Amino acid sequence: MKIRVLGAHGSDLLVKGPTGSTICRSVGFLVNEELMVDAGTLASGLTFEEQKCVKHILLSHLHHDHIKGIPPLVDNLFGCVDHQVVVASVPSVIGGLHKHIFNDIVFPDFFHLRGRGSPILRAQGLEAKKEMILSGGITVMPVLVNHTVETAGFVIRDDSAAWIYSGDTHITEEIWQVAATTPNLKGIFIEVSFPDSMTDTAIQSKHLTPTLLAQEFRKIRKPDLPLYLYHMKPTVRETIIQEIAKLDIERVTVLEEGQEIEL
Ligand SMILES: [Zn+2]
Ligand SMILES: [Zn+2]
Repeated sequence: MKIRVLGAHGSDLLVKGPTGSTICRSVGFLVNEELMVDAGTLASGLTFEEQKCVKHILLSHLHHDHIKGIPPLVDNLFGCVDHQVVVASVPSVIGGLHKHIFNDIVFPDFFHLRGRGSPILRAQGLEAKKEMILSGGITVMPVLVNHTVETAGFVIRDDSAAWIYSGDTHITEEIWQVAATTPNLKGIFIEVSFPDSMTDTAIQSKHLTPTLLAQEFRKIRKPDLPLYLYHMKPTVRETIIQEIAKLDIERVTVLEEGQEIEL
């Protein structure tokens, strides 16, 4: 599977450095050019032609930095494609999208509005711990984690590889148990949002710091498993990176926008 990092942060920010500006974007990963895993950044990271290839959007939870790329995508694609874009998540997330976003107040209801034939969006409810096959031969299985609202991580696999994506996550158990027993597991993508000095904030908002992450990662008992980190709050990114470098984790990558990972 090829994973493109469209957004690797827990917010958006333009950062000026000595060699120019870089942009931090909210979380969004494009898998095999057609499956989005979280959608904090979507249309602003893809050309129109690339956007036309998006067939599925898998959402970990309803927080704004994970969903806000969907409205611009449907704005761009409406009336321009024949396929429906399937938005898949646990039922509370699907219900929240209908109630709070696509409610004809905040945004038109693109789950019902018809352009060329069927509505552009189609909801697909997922059941925790139950596998669902998406187009392109990719199978996803949600595993609930511990965040301030109902949130799922996912085991995502095809014939050759499996990886785990955990959206916003705090101290949790089940996804680590699943990770320990998933065959062919090639890596874990997980958030680290705040530096250790902001542990109180991380606990209140149910996120991870580098130290909390290291404690959690030990639960799998696979110290050589590659770990890919994202969802840093942009203003504290550098501090988090320094703290991660001091951790005793063998194969860790702090993700950046534009990176591509082959699993
Ligand atoms: Zn988030
Ligand atoms: Zn969140």
